Amino acid sequence: MGGPEIERLIEFLARLPGLGPRSARRAALHLMKRREALLEPLAAALETAARTIKTCSTCGNLDSADPCAICTDPRRDASVVCIVEDVADLWAIERSGAFRGRYHVLGGVLSALDGTGPEDLRIASLIDRVRSGDMREAIIATNATVEGQTTAHYIADRLASTGITVTRLAHGVPVGGELDYLDDGTLSAALRARRSV
Ligand SMILES: [Zn+2]
Repeated sequence: MGGPEIERLIEFLARLPGLGPRSARRAALHLMKRREALLEPLAAALETAARTIKTCSTCGNLDSADPCAICTDPRRDASVVCIVEDVADLWAIERSGAFRGRYHVLGGVLSALDGTGPEDLRIASLIDRVRSGDMREAIIATNATVEGQTTAHYIADRLASTGITVTRLAHGVPVGGELDYLDDGTLSAALRARRSV
């Protein structure tokens, strides 16, 4: 096939979620055929992203600014924090437009199987944030999976001593469901119908 540069491109594309070797080859070919319209602007966008995007040291969101745009937006309610597993979940909730508070991205879930303990997640910084701020409510929005539920219980226990009201997403989130896959209406309903834990 092509030279080592093309092989390298395909190899990297194949590491992306949802792309295997076959779709990576198709994507590489597609890019190379659309050099000016796609390949060059994509390369520039990747270069800029690699140079500017960082993890928000307050909430764990990804942004070109630290603290991120959500943490610094004065129109958002700083007294409510929504705790999510991943940035993808933050994006899903933002797409729903149902939440105007702040976030805390855990960076995963507790999992005995994968060896992920509390120290591997952004839990200590969450407790610090709640303790040092004027927060009145923490909404735990982990996924409705076994690990998500376990993580939610653990966080609720840890937050109990801080005196903050702890709520959890309620109706609409199917068991085993992941927030990123829910439609905006379902997610809005789940946020509105949150309950105390
Ligand atoms: Zn932030």
